[in-house]
Parts: sequence; C-alpha cells; structure tokens
Amino acid sequence: MLYDLHMHSNASDGVLSPGALIDLCADKGIQVVALTDHDTLAGLAEARRNAVSRGLEFIPGAEFTCLWRRQVLHILGLNLDEQNPDLQAYMHALVAVREKRAEKIAERLIKKGVSADILDQARGIAGDASICRPHFAKALIKSGYVSSAKAAFDVYLGQGKVGDVKADWLDPESVIKTIHQAGGYAVLAHPTKYNMTFTRLRLLLAELKDWNCDAVETSYPGMNPDQARELLKTVKKFDFLVSAGSDFHSPEFSWTAPGRFPNVDIDDRHLLTKLIVHFNEEAGLS
Ligand code: AMP
Ligand code: MN
Ligand code: MN
Ligand code: MN
Repeated sequence: MLYDLHMHSNASDGVLSPGALIDLCADKGIQVVALTDHDTLAGLAEARRNAVSRGLEFIPGAEFTCLWRRQVLHILGLNLDEQNPDLQAYMHALVAVREKRAEKIAERLIKKGVSADILDQARGIAGDASICRPHFAKALIKSGYVSSAKAAFDVYLGQGKVGDVKADWLDPESVIKTIHQAGGYAVLAHPTKYNMTFTRLRLLLAELKDWNCDAVETSYPGMNPDQARELLKTVKKFDFLVSAGSDFHSPEFSWTAPGRFPNVDIDDRHLLTKLIVHFNEEAGLS
C-alpha cells in the first residue's frame, strides 16, 4: 500500500497548494495521505475536497512545534478533528505567536546588516500562510544575501544562528493532550533530526511514553541504515507505534517526494493500521 503520513503545503512552508499536493499524490498512486502543516489547520479543507474527489483516504493532521528542555521538537497530530474548539483556539493563538516571532527574527537579521524590508518580503512570500523560517530563507535569497536555502539556514536561520528565535511553544505534554482532546494520535516526528545523542533520545522517549504519546516516526528521508535500525529497536522497546512519511515540502528538493521513505512493515504496530480502522468505521464496514 502506498501512503504518506507527513507532508506540507503552502498553508505553512510547503510550496504546493493543498489541492495540488493531493493531485500529485493521486498521480503517484498514493492511497492514504495526511497533510501535516506546521501549527495550522488552514490547508485541511481544500486537501480533503481534492482527496475525496480523487478517491484517496485523507488524514487531517498538523505538525506541532513544541519545546522540551529548551530543545525544539516536532510532534505530529494525525486524525485530528478540525472542528474541535480547543484545537482551533490553540492554532489561532499560534498565528499571533509566529507573527511576533517573525518580527523578532527580522529585528535580529537587520542588526546583522540585512535590509529593513526583510519582514515585508518574508510576509509577502508567506502570503496567507503563517510565517515560518523558510519564508525568511526565500526572502534572503531574493534579496541576494545568500544563494540557497541551505546557505540561508547555515548563515542566518539555523540552530544557534541569529534568526533561530524560539517562540513560546508549548511543552510536549500539553501538545499531546491537545492532540488527544481533538481525537488525534500524537507522533514524535523525525527523532534523529534533533542532533540528540541516543542517550538523550531515550530520555525523551521515556518522558513521551509517560505523557501517552502514541507513536514515533521511524522512517523518513535522510536517515542512514545504522540510525534507522537503532531507532526502530529503541522505539519498539518503549512499545510505541511506528509511523512513516516523506516530510515533503517542495518538488524542487529532489531528495523528497510524496510517498518516498524507507520501507516499513505494515503490521499491527504501524499507526497506519489504526488509521485504516477509522476509515472502515466511517464507511460502516466494521
Ligand atoms: P520554523 O517552524 O519557522 O522554525 O521553521 C522550521 C522549518 O524550517 C522546518 O520545518 C524545515 O522545513 C525548515 N528547516 C529547518 N532547518 C533547515 C535547514 N537547515 N535547511 C533547510 N530548511 C530547514
Ligand atoms: Mn517545514
Ligand atoms: Mn519537522
Ligand atoms: Mn514536517
């Protein structure tokens, strides 16, 4: 079965509209798709409409930014009820949090010698999306400060650089509660991408287990086979479900495509199995 449980549209920092993303997935023969934009539900309605018309199973999701021991983590909420008032209020508040953070990012970039219109440029690129660092990366490229997104992160926006501004993100426990209250599953995204040692990752997984996190991504682009093996072993020891996704943002990045990530067994430890049960229930098949 072809599926993808982690993808972005231009409702956050992806390039394709939600509808165009679903069309691309349908063209590739992907049957189960989740949209997981950063801290927003704004793309879900359009994505669902296209998924229904193209005959795909659609999973409404979001990628929640949170802070754990001063470290930024990403937790996916999958199978969310977008109408849930607490979830809506939380997402609504985050638009303001991101806007305030964008002002701070701009302030710091300007102090570094970047031109004063950088915020307006980034806002223009973000359009209706809530503003993310990749919008600043594009603005920096457009203004000729750097020649690539990688350079923008290496010099200005990445971990420890001036533009790496932490906002008042929630802690993982609260994020997981918010996801659960909205009927969703909570999934730790891309655990090997936080520059953590495995010792620290085990500490994180132990805490996430206490907070009833449901699953951990164990397959996504950019992992090496040794990491993947060690991760899967650790995740199974803590008895989490596993999940997988491409983290697709843009067709420009040749190393990611919808549905493309290392193969994972679809057994009863895979979150996909639980999600399929929900589809069948909705269709009145069980
Ligand atoms: P934000 O949520 O505003 O902090 O933006 C985070 C997003 O920036 C991530 O979801 C990635 O899409 C992107 N990103 C983070 N680090 C890098 C990097 N080193 N190079 C390119 N994109 C990055
Ligand atoms: Mn992103
Ligand atoms: Mn992420
Ligand atoms: Mn992502």
